[in-house]
Amino acid sequence: PVRESLIIAANRLPVSVKRKADGTWDVRPSAGGLVSALLGVRKTYGMTWIGWPGIFIEPGPERDSLTATLRRQNLLPVYLTKSQVELYYNGYCNNVLWSLFHYVPLNFEARLNQETNMTAQWVAYKEANRVFADAIMSVYRDGDIVWAHDYHLMLVPEMLRQDVETMKIGWFLHTPFPSSEIYRMLPMREALLHGCLAADLVGFHTYDYARHFVSATSRILGLEATPDGVETQGGFTRVAAFPIGIDPSRFTAALRTDQVQDHIKELQERFRGRKVMLGVDRLDMIKGIPHKLLAFEKFLIENPEWKDKCCLIQIAVPTRSEVPEYQKLASTVHEIVGRINGRFGSIGSIPIQHLDCSMQFPELCALYSVTDVMLVTSQRDGMNLVSYEFVSCQNKSNAGVLVLSEFAGAAQSIGAGALLVNPHNVTEVAHAIKEALTMPEAEKIERHRSSFSHVSTHTAQAWADTFISELNDTHVEAELRQ
Ligand code: UDP
Repeated sequence: PVRESLIIAANRLPVSVKRKADGTWDVRPSAGGLVSALLGVRKTYGMTWIGWPGIFIEPGPERDSLTATLRRQNLLPVYLTKSQVELYYNGYCNNVLWSLFHYVPLNFEARLNQETNMTAQWVAYKEANRVFADAIMSVYRDGDIVWAHDYHLMLVPEMLRQDVETMKIGWFLHTPFPSSEIYRMLPMREALLHGCLAADLVGFHTYDYARHFVSATSRILGLEATPDGVETQGGFTRVAAFPIGIDPSRFTAALRTDQVQDHIKELQERFRGRKVMLGVDRLDMIKGIPHKLLAFEKFLIENPEWKDKCCLIQIAVPTRSEVPEYQKLASTVHEIVGRINGRFGSIGSIPIQHLDCSMQFPELCALYSVTDVMLVTSQRDGMNLVSYEFVSCQNKSNAGVLVLSEFAGAAQSIGAGALLVNPHNVTEVAHAIKEALTMPEAEKIERHRSSFSHVSTHTAQAWADTFISELNDTHVEAELRQ
């Protein structure tokens, strides 16, 4: 018998693609939460992943050869034009939806510029969603499960439903869904809600995001809603929280390798006698990096005895660096780092080591492992996997402390083991730094035990399995109702 297939649609394919000199293609898997979550699912279902390959190629033999290469790996590329990427991806997805979903109001100045006109961006967004929906239809067979991901593809469920009424469709949002008071500012607020409500199951990382979505549908569309879902004209859309996790074995296995152990020894040598604090964030407004630095500065002012006894390593991974707001954020961060290092540094010790770069996986694991206090001060963050990764790299005999923003989705899952803070309150974060640095051993061990057991059981794979089985159940119930 033919196995049922799972069709995953996400903006990007889980690979990066480069053309080699001999004309063939170098296709490398990209590591990410979604990718590792779905590796396990492959054992149960045949799987096709549909997404943009991240490069521009004109139609013709070159494009055909890449398509053929990717198809052999069960990947179906969706080719977007430069103008679609500019208007749909950079424009509507990033400038409009990403911002508003993280409570950053729409940037009016950017809209004064014709190039970034929101109407044109919206047209491109609809067009791109149509291209994805058509690609899904080109491989869809009766009985397949379709799972669309994220704010890039909010209209896809409705487009598919119009073609096949009985299709099993799930949609999952990887960012926060904001309060309806924020969401209702969006000019195309109705169309986007209708778009994803056509799915059988709509999933979010936290119960709060699900609640915000449900209340947006009842306030904006006037639909009947309960905490479990929304009554639509065609039936019922189930809405629920499915907090994603990581693949902890990837980290625990890495920690056992000689390469990571060597890095760990080097770092321990370098920071001997000092407590290590760590931040690992994309250099994005939502990550609250300036807030973290100001809190560290306040801590040093209030606790001068700690001056040479601790340091903060901040990894700030560059992102969207061509956008002026991000360039401004980089210079603000550099200015604060310079000020703190100038004031509290000495010839032998610098309080903040700030790096504008990404880390290789073995080095990142080693850093997580030697860290005494991990600082996550996001102003908004769908989940924040860095906090999970830190927990998975710590061990009982030397448990570090996680200081975690209450505005990260992770606060609602591994919050019990962390010191939760409001990142807008610099004084509170400064006090949490002190509490973490001076926490009694027994309390550190107990907190770590609680977080570690959560991270070990609520894995990425468990997340994907739960979502898909819930989608199957929801679909059966919907058929019974008819
Ligand atoms: N990460 C990375 N290279 C780095 C630093 C971090 O690949 O130099 C990874 C990190 O391991 C984590 C991801 O980037 O898996 C960040 O995920 P998170 O959910 O914390 O935040 P996002 O960047 O998705 O907003």
